[in-house]
Amino acid sequence: MLKKNKKCIICSNPRLIKYLDLGKIALANSCLNKAGLKRPELKFPLRVYYCPACHLAQLKDWVDRKMLFEDYAYFTGASQPLHEHFRKYAEDVYRKFPTQTKQFILDIGSNDGILLKHFQKLGAKVLGVDPAKNVARIARRNGIETKALFFNLNVAKNIVKEYGHAGIITANNILAHTNNLHGIIAGVKKLLDEKGIFIFEVQYLGDLIKKNEFDNTYHEHICYFSLFPLVKLLDIWGLQIFDVERVDTQGGSIRVFAGHKPLLFPVNKRVLKMQNLEEENGLHNLKTYKKFGTVPQKIKKKLLKLLIGLKKQNKKIVGYGAAAKGNTLLQYCGIGTEIIDYIADTTAFKQGKFTPGTHIPILPPEHIKKNLPDYVLILAWNYASSIMKNESWLKNKNVKFIVPIPKVTII
Ligand SMILES: [Zn+2]
Repeated sequence: MLKKNKKCIICSNPRLIKYLDLGKIALANSCLNKAGLKRPELKFPLRVYYCPACHLAQLKDWVDRKMLFEDYAYFTGASQPLHEHFRKYAEDVYRKFPTQTKQFILDIGSNDGILLKHFQKLGAKVLGVDPAKNVARIARRNGIETKALFFNLNVAKNIVKEYGHAGIITANNILAHTNNLHGIIAGVKKLLDEKGIFIFEVQYLGDLIKKNEFDNTYHEHICYFSLFPLVKLLDIWGLQIFDVERVDTQGGSIRVFAGHKPLLFPVNKRVLKMQNLEEENGLHNLKTYKKFGTVPQKIKKKLLKLLIGLKKQNKKIVGYGAAAKGNTLLQYCGIGTEIIDYIADTTAFKQGKFTPGTHIPILPPEHIKKNLPDYVLILAWNYASSIMKNESWLKNKNVKFIVPIPKVTII
């Protein structure tokens, strides 16, 4: 179930250096049902390593992919802010690339079809590929043709035979979740039309480090990208990045645009500028990573001091958002039901379950009304502003919010 990788995923450098160690924890997306609470829970080391050769940050302890993704409990469509994000994404791509969007559009890791649905509305022919069978089934039910597979070169070859080449290939929050980067990019190279565009989003390591987002580390999240290693990876496969944009999903991400070499598009200045900025900001320097490795302990100390102090005053504390990052944070800090009564979450299939490792009940947000807390710890801090807006009535009831990242704050 656990594989120990020895070399850098992109450049095969064997000398990887550990900079972050969160100990042994349960898989962040594996919420438990009642029966699951009685069984022994599997825990795996969660450590992140830096490659000084290509600057990719990565896990070396790989949990079996089937265990992680075949019954994946993350539906992008369940998240309202993401809906809006992908609607704008589709419209933006449609406006910028009118020729390419006339051909079919393939989305790798298409989840419940959240992005493809918007492309379809605009008139595009679409196809999704996603390894999670349960999620692919839902996408198909929503009218999005979806293959329940891990995308790779072979899958790409079969798609070319059946559908021809794709004008646009998208892959959002997928590259970080794979140890088969070369397989995916080889497939993209094969499937992409000669004038086609490969567009992908990844969480941005520059933001993760700058904003202390250590809880964005979990076993599903194998690679942590700055722009530099992506340039290198695509170059190996004869692809080149011609533009990059900052987007604010997932605590700070980048949207990257690439095409076949030689490029048919001018390279935007932003591409070089971002790489230069990465070097200036220390992302090519081990010291930066080692310093980041000390962040979790500092946040843990502050957060526990605050929460334990509140419990001593008999304050009632609940969590908000049983997100993967929240499960990393709770497990690393050792926060369980002695501190948090329950976690409110709008996602229906998580409700009635328990958080991995810490076994805190997950309940619908309506529960807060019935059982008013004194404090709400926002675990899905990337949605903190929309959560506080949706639950603004709590302010009138004198309930306070605690946001743990980038630093422990009471609002
Ligand atoms: Zn490397």
